Amino acid sequence: MMTKQAQVMVVTPHPDDAEYGVAGTVARWTREGNDVIYVVCTNGDKGTNDANMKPGALVRIREQEQLAAAKLLGVREVIFLRYPDQTLEDTPEFRKKLVRLIRMYKPETVVTADPYRRYIWHRDHRITGQVTLDAIFPYARDSLSYPDLLKQGLHPHKVREILLWGSEEPNYRSNITDTFDIKVAALRCHKSQVGDSPSPDLEQWLRQRHKMMAEGEDYELAEAFHRVEIWR
Ligand SMILES: [Zn+2]
Repeated sequence: MMTKQAQVMVVTPHPDDAEYGVAGTVARWTREGNDVIYVVCTNGDKGTNDANMKPGALVRIREQEQLAAAKLLGVREVIFLRYPDQTLEDTPEFRKKLVRLIRMYKPETVVTADPYRRYIWHRDHRITGQVTLDAIFPYARDSLSYPDLLKQGLHPHKVREILLWGSEEPNYRSNITDTFDIKVAALRCHKSQVGDSPSPDLEQWLRQRHKMMAEGEDYELAEAFHRVEIWR
């Protein structure tokens, strides 16, 4: 397998979730010279209130929006798994796709949605987070878990760190003061979701949110995660 390693893999349920969750940190990582790749699990084809919008057209729009946002952030590659929106399930097939990608790209850090947020949490978010955690440990790590992947040259890989956005128990904060503007610009690429009005509401709302996440730190704006380190 000749895939170039990426330090960071971001596994996002829908186009735009990664921008809300981790874009400020992604922009910092790429500025520092790290390779970041995105895996977008669903095609986002239910994400509209426009009764005239056809799902197929929405998929194409949202992929272009995701690519534009990723480009702004310096993301090296975007992989679309294209599961229909709101249909994601914890299946052996989905898990194996993620294991394959983890073994191909060998990320040190994987970022995804926290599956353990209670009550109101999009099912696709819960399932993406859960299946990603399972794919990392133990399936990507263990040589006997997928003999066919091993035969294809996809050797076991140990991810070292997991960052979960949307967590009710954040234990790790990342300084995004210098990259906040890029995060806002990346979110604005998702016009089908945030609208294209020049209104400063989105920016104000985000600034408030990330200020709260930075409370007690000596900088202004943070993204917050539940961080898990894996030693085995
Ligand atoms: Zn989402």
